[in-house]
Amino acid sequence: MNKKIVGIIVLILIAAIFAYRIGRRPQSSDTSVASPSNESAQTTTPAPTSESNPAPTKQIADPISQAASRVTKKSFGTYVTPQNSPVSPEKFTGFHTGIDFETFDTEKDADVEIKTICAGKLVQKARASGYGGYAIQACTINGQAVTVIYGHLRQSSIAPTVGAVLNAGDHLAVLGTGYSTETDGERKHLHLSIHLGSSINIAGYVQTKNELSGWLDPKSPLGI
Ligand SMILES: [Zn+2]
Repeated sequence: MNKKIVGIIVLILIAAIFAYRIGRRPQSSDTSVASPSNESAQTTTPAPTSESNPAPTKQIADPISQAASRVTKKSFGTYVTPQNSPVSPEKFTGFHTGIDFETFDTEKDADVEIKTICAGKLVQKARASGYGGYAIQACTINGQAVTVIYGHLRQSSIAPTVGAVLNAGDHLAVLGTGYSTETDGERKHLHLSIHLGSSINIAGYVQTKNELSGWLDPKSPLGI
């Protein structure tokens, strides 16, 4: 009888130890699985952010240094006549289709560099009444096809060839000398217009306010 009781007690003990070991196993495997996954999450998370930071593609660039401080006379839609114009002499009448970037007194005899404001093909460089030298670039701004007109450039300084694909901020030209044939007699300044669509229209002024809807105020994409 004693042997049977001892045998049962031994079996119960063995069963208890066995059950205790099985009961521990899931806990120990849980912790061993959990810790590596936490570590891998910590090491992989910083990598994508450090890779995405360094190289943002520039979409829009200023056409001239200190751009915001130069728009002092003619904004987008300014209505001018020879009588009321902020510049003198004035030979135009109409609503201004772009914005004018003025030059500082210290830049009268200096080369003032003009850069492209967007990425796209140079589609024309020429000379026209009212501008002197000018260049036209085809771009996409805010998902919309546009042509950008850079007016009053020294025609011989327009560096890219027609058809060249340019990035925003590329060297384009220098401004023409004021009151010379290079600017068609205008003061030394940059006229910048953005015409909606891909057709070329170099009008610096339109005669009705409604026609301004065909143009985009460059201040908006430039953020100035
Ligand atoms: Zn202008």
